[in-house]
Amino acid sequence: MNTEKDRETAAVQAVPAEVEVAIVGAGLAGTALALALARTGRKVALIDPHRTHHDEFRAEKIGMAQMELFEKHGIGPAIKPLVTPMTDIHTFRLGQFFQREQKWEFGFSYGPLVNGLRAALPPEAPLTVGKVSEVSTGPDRQRVVLTDGSIIDARLLVVATGYSEAIRRAIGMERIEESKAHSLSLGFDLAITREQCPYPAVTCYARNPADRTAYLTIFPIGNRMRANMFGYHTVADAWTREFRDNPQKMLLKMMPEIAAQCGNFEVASPVEMRQVSLTTTKGHRRDGVVAIGDAFWTTCPTPGVGINRVMTDVDRLVSTFIPDWLATPGMAADKICAFYDDPTKLETDESAMRASIYAKRITIGTGMEWRLRRVRNNAARQLMIIGRKFREAGQPATPSMA
Ligand SMILES: Cc1cc2nc3c(=O)[nH]c(=O)nc-3n(C[C@H](O)[C@H](O)[C@H](O)COP(=O)(O)OP(=O)(O)OC[C@H]3O[C@@H](n4cnc5c(N)ncnc54)[C@H](O)[C@@H]3O)c2cc1C
Repeated sequence: MNTEKDRETAAVQAVPAEVEVAIVGAGLAGTALALALARTGRKVALIDPHRTHHDEFRAEKIGMAQMELFEKHGIGPAIKPLVTPMTDIHTFRLGQFFQREQKWEFGFSYGPLVNGLRAALPPEAPLTVGKVSEVSTGPDRQRVVLTDGSIIDARLLVVATGYSEAIRRAIGMERIEESKAHSLSLGFDLAITREQCPYPAVTCYARNPADRTAYLTIFPIGNRMRANMFGYHTVADAWTREFRDNPQKMLLKMMPEIAAQCGNFEVASPVEMRQVSLTTTKGHRRDGVVAIGDAFWTTCPTPGVGINRVMTDVDRLVSTFIPDWLATPGMAADKICAFYDDPTKLETDESAMRASIYAKRITIGTGMEWRLRRVRNNAARQLMIIGRKFREAGQPATPSMA
């Protein structure tokens, strides 16, 4: 019987020694890029130290725009069986039903999603399970050496190692912390099943800035009802310890308006927590190498923009830059810089960073400007709620209206 070690060694031996693109890091960014490049006939090596992506708490939902980017690059058939589609999302604000949104969203668990995409990799882009011991980059060829002595020679090196620093540091890229411990994300399963929840999906915004919470979103992954809550506590706060110990009590206090529809917030799993910092990169404009996804910048989960950034990087590289770069000799920094200076990439990254900062300020900002903005926004929302109630007066209530 083959052991895990045998399988990993076999995978390393199977790696082509010479490829057009070597991708280090097989998370969502690296795996999606490998799939999309293989589909266009490129010879790719994808390297990760783990055969199976660990099941950590990361993104658990994407919207239609991101799904369209997966589809554009032929990844739709691989991703669709791994996600749970939903529409008719009910939003609550100021403790009241606010609106129904008919947009499509897709729920998933991150580890199984990445593993499902890895399983769809074709022979032109095999996953090599191995540890990188040495990287050298230059204006013509890039070299990746694994700890078992295998050498991969490529025209372009893509760094897709997420938060991890080793490869970035070896190349000379520096991470700049723009906002340390910017936000805290919490994930847990509710005890109710999908059938027991009266709404396909729910988003409930916190009422009180003192709660330091932006919103709670409840959505299906298979038959589970999963909850993600995004806010601005730190892991060390007493609030965080209290929430971990008794999420039901804290949620009942914070969001009583939706409690009855959500099984009174009975929680069926441990509460997973991730503190996220906003970071950018310095020293990335180099010969032969490009950083993508979280290996380039990290933004905040609250506005849900990380995967849009990942897929914009994949789209711009596969649609434009990599075919252009490979069509002419050399891979010097001037070629690479065209990607970092691409208006679509710049706007996607910068608007994601702006949204990350705005979401925190509008939720808990204590300056006069932010207090006034909250008053103005809430007044407008209250008027919309009154208007809706007025329009609905006399009409028979639909079961999905709170
Ligand atoms: C709690 C949380 C919730 C989030 N929610 C959302 C959301 O709702 N919507 C959204 O759009 N985004 C969200 N995000 C952001 C999103 O998850 C990330 O932007 C995205 O997963 C980044 O993918 P990646 O491939 O760049 O990094 P990763 O998925 O981290 O992949 C990095 C890969 O590199 C590998 N690696 C590391 N070091 C090495 C090495 N030395 N050699 C080889 N391989 C290496 C790792 O094993 C891993 O496979 C959330 C993030 C968090 C933390």
